[in-house]
Amino acid sequence: MQPKKSVRDYIRTIPDFPKPGIMFRDVTTLFADPRGFRICIDQLLDPFADQRFDKVVALEARGFIMGGAIAHQLNVGFVPIRKKGKLPGATLEQPYLLEYGEAVMEVHDDALQAGERVLLVDDLLATGGTAEAGVKLCERMGARIVGCAFIVDLPDLGGRKRLKDLGLRVEALCA
Ligand code: 5GP
Repeated sequence: MQPKKSVRDYIRTIPDFPKPGIMFRDVTTLFADPRGFRICIDQLLDPFADQRFDKVVALEARGFIMGGAIAHQLNVGFVPIRKKGKLPGATLEQPYLLEYGEAVMEVHDDALQAGERVLLVDDLLATGGTAEAGVKLCERMGARIVGCAFIVDLPDLGGRKRLKDLGLRVEALCA
């Protein structure tokens, strides 16, 4: 019998995307496989089994795919954090640095209540800039980030340390 595949085995690496020299971790192959997707969602939640959450907050765009499934499984609400200009209601804006230049993330300003316990999710943690922008948006509404969950962590890029230095709990399934 073949050994069971792990989450990492379902992810493929595409060289030179979106530009030369970048090895892009493609999670669409994980999401496309029914067993892969299920074990991914289950394993993301395992470390937080003893925690209570009020909301799952996810980062555009691949974070939404996991975030919706996780919110459904936890029976809590889902909140999207989007790139600037996509949300229809009044928003809070949070600028963050990219490799070249700056971008802005947004959330509806009434999406979270003060004191709500949040699980923040995204597919991949690299420098941590995107996740930190998400954390700040949640905290500006008075919510508490109980944990941050990622499928892939690229620790050499410093994101894990950056979030840990903010006092956050960081969990990831593979490097
Ligand atoms: P960071 O802000 O931590 O440097 O970058 C993380 C963000 O960029 C995440 O929202 C993630 O979706 C995206 N990202 C960067 N590199 C990759 C990659 O190789 N694969 C995937 N799936 N997403 C990436």
